[in-house]
Amino acid sequence: MLIGHLPAGYFLTRYLIKKNKLPLNIWWLGLGLIASILPDFDIAYIVFHDTTVSSHRNYFTDYPFFYLLAFLMALLVYFFNKKKWLIKGIYLIFANVLLHFLLDTPFVGIKWLWPVYNKFIGIYNAGFTGGFLVGNYFTHWYWYLEIALWLAAITAVIISYKKGELKN
Ligand SMILES: [Zn+2]
Repeated sequence: MLIGHLPAGYFLTRYLIKKNKLPLNIWWLGLGLIASILPDFDIAYIVFHDTTVSSHRNYFTDYPFFYLLAFLMALLVYFFNKKKWLIKGIYLIFANVLLHFLLDTPFVGIKWLWPVYNKFIGIYNAGFTGGFLVGNYFTHWYWYLEIALWLAAITAVIISYKKGELKN
């Protein structure tokens, strides 16, 4: 997924904010949105510092294992500091990261089983040489799904804004 992480993260974050009875404000919304694109922050690093990596998904920041460790560490922090907002924040962040990986799985894939298995697990163009090969992504249904996500999210934001839902 190229551009759809943010709108998908918006819907998940809105859902979790409601479900966990958190205030719908810029902080909780922002936290979820940042987490939804967190695994892709490495793109900036690779572009500016390291051009030898073929895909940013080869970087450890795109390995679910890395986030699993971070999740367990966060739970440990919560264990010693049992604040309700803390556990809700932890779930908000890692649910969005998980969604990111799920959305990246169909195309190119994700190294779900690293370090046990060092290959991309995906459906289309997995690791660029495996899976069902698609020549032009921009004529594929998954690309249209990304556009649809944006249209749906923009509509939802406008409706939410008109209702005045966002609190300070
Ligand atoms: Zn990604």
